[in-house]
Amino acid sequence: MTSLDDLPIRDDLRGRTPYGAPQKAVPVALNVNENTHPIPEAVAHDIVARVAASILTLNRYPDREFTALREAFAAYLGHGLGAANIWAANGSNEVLQHLLQAFGGPGRSALGFAPTYSMYALLAAGTGTEWIAAARDDDFELSPETAVAAVREHDPDLVLLCAPNNPTGTPLDLDTIRAVADAARGIVIVDEAYFEFADPGTPSALALLEGRPRLVVSRTMSKAFAFAGARVGYLAGDPATIDALRLVRLPYHLSALTQAAALGALAHSGEMLAMVDEIRGQRERIVVDLARLGFAPHRSGSNFVLFGGVDDPHAVFEALLARGILIRELGIPGHLRVTAGTEAETTAFLEAIAVFAPNAEREHTRDHEQTSGPGTDGGAPTSTENRIDA
Ligand SMILES: *Cc1c(COP(=O)(O)O)cnc(C)c1O
Repeated sequence: MTSLDDLPIRDDLRGRTPYGAPQKAVPVALNVNENTHPIPEAVAHDIVARVAASILTLNRYPDREFTALREAFAAYLGHGLGAANIWAANGSNEVLQHLLQAFGGPGRSALGFAPTYSMYALLAAGTGTEWIAAARDDDFELSPETAVAAVREHDPDLVLLCAPNNPTGTPLDLDTIRAVADAARGIVIVDEAYFEFADPGTPSALALLEGRPRLVVSRTMSKAFAFAGARVGYLAGDPATIDALRLVRLPYHLSALTQAAALGALAHSGEMLAMVDEIRGQRERIVVDLARLGFAPHRSGSNFVLFGGVDDPHAVFEALLARGILIRELGIPGHLRVTAGTEAETTAFLEAIAVFAPNAEREHTRDHEQTSGPGTDGGAPTSTENRIDA
């Protein structure tokens, strides 16, 4: 059988592993931070009608400039933004790829603060950009001083700030973003994929765009908007920076179907985002309950919680999976990550994890001799499971 090693693949891609969150059909999927609430049916019908109408003109290429969609995103974001400030693509991952294609590349570097979203390193690799992972402060926080010191040391062409950070959930102060934007010579990307889940009143980095043409803020419809399957991400920035992205995008990269569906969802943003408060409530419930059980949940401004205090993360991951609950193993020692689900999904997770609670250990050891559930054979993690993979 032919393997990758037999192929004339680029030397810098040899031996790399693709993005690999496990895809499993389970009753309770809490591993990739999706919105676990389905789209309201009335909204779905409107989206279907718009997509259906667009099918009648699929003989033509779509609007290459997706003008109506850019206008709708600008209206949604506010902050005085207009269509000229907006870019969009098939998921914010493609938006980030466009940025790396235009501003990164061979001989250039991108800086991030680990642990952070695993796709940043993969997008850098795909575009031949050197990836530099600098360290965070205690508890995965990122102070202006720490961030600026790394920018000064590495002088990167791009800086990727994930706010709040995946996989840790850590919110990021505007002070840090402002300091990085002032210190960096290159493009500063603030990835606000989870912004809508932040506590009410949390300011967006959109407020910093004015007068900072190298600062961009990316968002996605995949999380709060419950639209992950549609693949729509977007970005706000200076019109000149947006123009740079036109140089690298494929012509007509946003299909007419995607544009119609996204416009439909945006026309109902209130209903699409109605579940955000409920999800934030489940996130807080997870933080409080995990702490009560003796785990060490980290501060989260997102729809997921990273928690420490797990003796054997792989064994717990497998035991929960055996009960139909899929969470995320990231390769951070002693830690696991869980997405806030519906109330019932969250309850299922909390009941299953309680067996492994540090605080419950003594009772369970006495009652059941051991705390492990089914499937805890403690097998060595594979190489994919072992790396930090947000
Ligand atoms: C989920 C996620 C995205 C969104 O990716 P899409 O391509 O828009 O689905 C972007 N950034 C981070 C940090 C994420 O966790």
